[in-house]
Amino acid sequence: MADDLPPREAMEFDVVIVGGGPAGLAAAIRLKQLAPDAAVCLVEKGGEIGAHILSGAVIEPRALNELIPDWKAKGAPLETPASDDRFLYLTATRAFRLPTPPQMHNHGNYIVSLGNVVRWLGQQAEALGVEIYPGFAAAEVLEEDGRVVGIATGDMGIAKDGTPTGNFQRGMELRARYTLFAEGCRGSLSKRLIARFDLRDGHDPQTYALGIKELWEVPPENHRPGLVEHSIGWPLDAGTYGGSFLYHFGTNLISYGFVVGLDYRNPFLSPFEEMQRFKTHPAVRRHFAGGRRIAYGARALNEGGLQSIPRLTFPGGLLIGDAAGFVNVPKIKGTHTSMKSGMLAAETVAEALAGDHPAELTAYPEKLRASWVWEELSAVRNIRPSFAKWGMWGGLIYSGIDTYVLRGKAPWTMHHPHRDNDTLLDAAKAPRIEYPRPDGVLTFDRLSSVFISNTNHEENQPPHLHLRDPDLAIRVNWERFRSPEARYCPAGVYEIVGAEEGNAQLQINAQNCVHCKTCDIKDPLQNIDWVTPEGGGGPNYPGGM
Ligand SMILES: Cc1cc2nc3c(=O)[nH]c(=O)nc-3n(C[C@H](O)[C@H](O)[C@H](O)COP(=O)(O)OP(=O)(O)OC[C@H]3O[C@@H](n4cnc5c(N)ncnc54)[C@H](O)[C@@H]3O)c2cc1C
Ligand code: SF4
Repeated sequence: MADDLPPREAMEFDVVIVGGGPAGLAAAIRLKQLAPDAAVCLVEKGGEIGAHILSGAVIEPRALNELIPDWKAKGAPLETPASDDRFLYLTATRAFRLPTPPQMHNHGNYIVSLGNVVRWLGQQAEALGVEIYPGFAAAEVLEEDGRVVGIATGDMGIAKDGTPTGNFQRGMELRARYTLFAEGCRGSLSKRLIARFDLRDGHDPQTYALGIKELWEVPPENHRPGLVEHSIGWPLDAGTYGGSFLYHFGTNLISYGFVVGLDYRNPFLSPFEEMQRFKTHPAVRRHFAGGRRIAYGARALNEGGLQSIPRLTFPGGLLIGDAAGFVNVPKIKGTHTSMKSGMLAAETVAEALAGDHPAELTAYPEKLRASWVWEELSAVRNIRPSFAKWGMWGGLIYSGIDTYVLRGKAPWTMHHPHRDNDTLLDAAKAPRIEYPRPDGVLTFDRLSSVFISNTNHEENQPPHLHLRDPDLAIRVNWERFRSPEARYCPAGVYEIVGAEEGNAQLQINAQNCVHCKTCDIKDPLQNIDWVTPEGGGGPNYPGGM
């Protein structure tokens, strides 16, 4: 069909950046600081910068201090200093306060809306002359003679059946000497590049978690600005990695999130419902008393750490931020490391533009290895794998020894033995989990949740969730695993219909997709391939998220 379409127009830049998150924007800003005359373009699939940004977030300002030292004077929205850290272990009825691990000390950090921070970074980038195109999804990598030479944005106005509609607009070729991929966790083009250039050879598989988040407004008497509370334990069993965060910030806002490691084994587990029932715990529900839920969203995050960072360079381009995977898992923080990776990539590119334009920018990983990012990720590299190996209690004990006795300098590196899609038990061998019904006050169902993520997709467009082999949806996913996608998808996109009549069919409600990427990660046979829908589609997270 592409052959019948008119040719794409092309624009030339020195650098094209895919993704307007912390990594992409930090790279854009650093580039213009170092090379003011460079032509830099950034595309973002969200309808505006920040629309698809979902994070906790408590952020460490280290990278921001380096990038824009006078950020306070420039009005950066970092307004609530973290002041009180609490770390809890929950049983079904009780809460026990544990010593806060050093990685979770947040003195000097800020509780923010990352969406707002990113919107502000976008303004700083634009003021420096970066051309920012929100509402444009990079849909294709352009490659010539083995070198990446830019990206093409997706066509708009293509109908479900693949024919152009009255709103048809051909995508653009954005060509560049260097292309930086800053798509965040499980980027769709980054995934292709990793496969195309064998970037994962010799590295561990990437592992992931799904984070589901709600934003609440609570009465002032229940609000403790600066409180940072994390928990482990109930409602997850000791073999499932995960926990909660509760951050009190801004004017009477609470950012509540629940994170579940995607190496979970029970196909009946529903991260969404675990997230909902967590709020009913006696030690937790008081946070929300008298409050109102105002926003909802979900996003996968990387958990592989240092061992899982792939090769970062290929001819003509680089992976930066969570597209590669710089999250410090024990800290649950990746903003500062993603930003720093973007800044180091920008420094490398600025040198290359001033020099002889080498195809592959190998100075970038060298700079990273010499930076605090590497030191930080190296010190915690064994913590997450220890939980995968020994479960919660074994992982806690090992992590204590690794942190306090070995001080992150263990002479060994533990590995991630398998990919998250390989871990599910057959449904016949897994215990069923009964979840309580939502009450509509404290706990909610998926559809009312997706509603307040402001998710919207043009309905008449080709599906952006591809099943490589549609038969597998029933033959394997349903018959063997009872369709785990119907439970792990936090937006109710996947539904099994007709099961009671003995004619199970998979129905895909693609318009609900909040772009968390979990199905692309967890589908047992990797049969689901997430590709970018029309630019501007997806969630529209409000300020505050
Ligand atoms: C639930 C949760 C809680 C977290 N809590 C914290 C925390 O408290 N502190 C902290 O520091 N970190 C936290 N993190 C991690 C942090 O959010 C990430 O490390 C950080 O956002 C990574 O930045 P990034 O720019 O690499 O990617 P992202 O922030 O994911 O940004 C990527 C951007 O690229 C866009 N994009 C993707 N593909 C395309 C495409 N093909 N074309 C155009 N645009 C595209 C996306 O729409 C998005 O705007 C958390 C993450 C989650 C999910
Ligand atoms: S369809 Fe996939 S990417 Fe979209 S919300 Fe569901 S799990 Fe996430």
